[in-house]
Amino acid sequence: MTIIRLPTEIRLMSSFKSISGTFDILPEGHTSGGDSIAPSRIWQHAEAAIRKVMGMYGAEEIRTPILEPTELISRGIGQLTDIVSKEMFAFERGDTHYVLRPEVTAPVMRAYQQHHLDQKGGVQRLFYIGPCFRAERPQKGRYRQFHQFGLEIIGATDARADAETIACAVDVYRELGLNDFTIRLNSLGDSESRPRYKEALIAYITPFADQLSEVSRNRLETNPMRILDTKIEKEREMLRGAPILADFLDDESRQHHEEVKAHLTSIGLTFQDDPFLVRGLDYYSRTAFEIESDSLGAQGSLAGGGRYDLLSLELGAKQIIPAVGFAAGMERLIMALDAANLIDIPSPRLDAFIVALGDAALSWTFPMAHSLRENGIKVGYDLKGRSMKAQMREASRQNAKFVIIVGEDELVAGAAQVKDMDQSSQRSVPFDQLASQLTN
Ligand code: AMP
Repeated sequence: MTIIRLPTEIRLMSSFKSISGTFDILPEGHTSGGDSIAPSRIWQHAEAAIRKVMGMYGAEEIRTPILEPTELISRGIGQLTDIVSKEMFAFERGDTHYVLRPEVTAPVMRAYQQHHLDQKGGVQRLFYIGPCFRAERPQKGRYRQFHQFGLEIIGATDARADAETIACAVDVYRELGLNDFTIRLNSLGDSESRPRYKEALIAYITPFADQLSEVSRNRLETNPMRILDTKIEKEREMLRGAPILADFLDDESRQHHEEVKAHLTSIGLTFQDDPFLVRGLDYYSRTAFEIESDSLGAQGSLAGGGRYDLLSLELGAKQIIPAVGFAAGMERLIMALDAANLIDIPSPRLDAFIVALGDAALSWTFPMAHSLRENGIKVGYDLKGRSMKAQMREASRQNAKFVIIVGEDELVAGAAQVKDMDQSSQRSVPFDQLASQLTN
């Protein structure tokens, strides 16, 4: 036997692990950093439901690159947001600045403008599913690489588009059997009403400035509306008498908000009007909403979205391209499914497992498996030349419906022993009838 000696530096190297805040999705469920990660079939199950619902809304898939120009994201989301100021995975090569996308709305709007999708006429409904990256402190339900799915409806100012966006997100949850969530809704007004509101808010909060946390004090300078997001009870108490956006809305935004609510009511969707809902991203105008799970606790935000009519201008369009959309976390969706006991999906079954004994039978296995697979039969077999007992164990582990047993005698007879694993019965089947008998 030859002994292969590894170079010392390889032998001393510790084994690699996935980066904290990222995880592998495996055929079987596992735990990563204390969090349970669902098997890949659960992700596929959720993705299939998303694709099905998106299809019902006439939405088509868009796939944009993971790498985007840093400026697209900093302009699109806003310099003063947490995402851009602290959470971007950004780097440069030569003169080019890159970022791993932290969200997908700005990239979709970039693609829409780059490819002149408006020239197709009408309204575009585009959906996506894919990874996003934010350098946040990893914790349960909050990762550095996570996955978002979402819908963007581009080209419509109609309040039905806002309502449809919310209805579509809700339909994804319902399609998967989830019903315990709350929709919170607000209107952020337009580019004139918002500054007036900000001024009033600053005037109200400033006298309390020395009682604020450091984060909120900084926000008072940079992004005062984000203070409304605070989770600190003392600050929430202080905010109880604060002015609310609803009192500052321009007439058109107010009218639009009323229409969105009427449309939601017309399909029986209930929601909470929340004057303090501001959302982290800068680019929203008018509608802002969030969908929260009632069972997930701290990281309960399932999805968020809103109208972002002005994003197009930030990204260089000559005129406003009205748009509304939502983004939702895949991990949160799967956590909510898990909490509701909705992810008990069995592994896929093999139709047949071939147990082969002896060299001639081992060789026969390969073309036979190939031919059965060509006939649409899912087939597995052992690649390690193990004993009959070990092969039978493997067939059970893979939950095969039938086991095809072939040794020297069967090769001579031209017929295999076929064991029906559900009925525990066994019969002899000629090789040339295997495919037809296993498909019936
Ligand atoms: P956002 O783009 O911040 O509005 O987030 C939209 C949704 O993405 C949230 O409601 C979460 O479900 C999910 N999400 C955002 N950040 C993370 C993260 N770091 N880890 C996991 N899910 C996230």
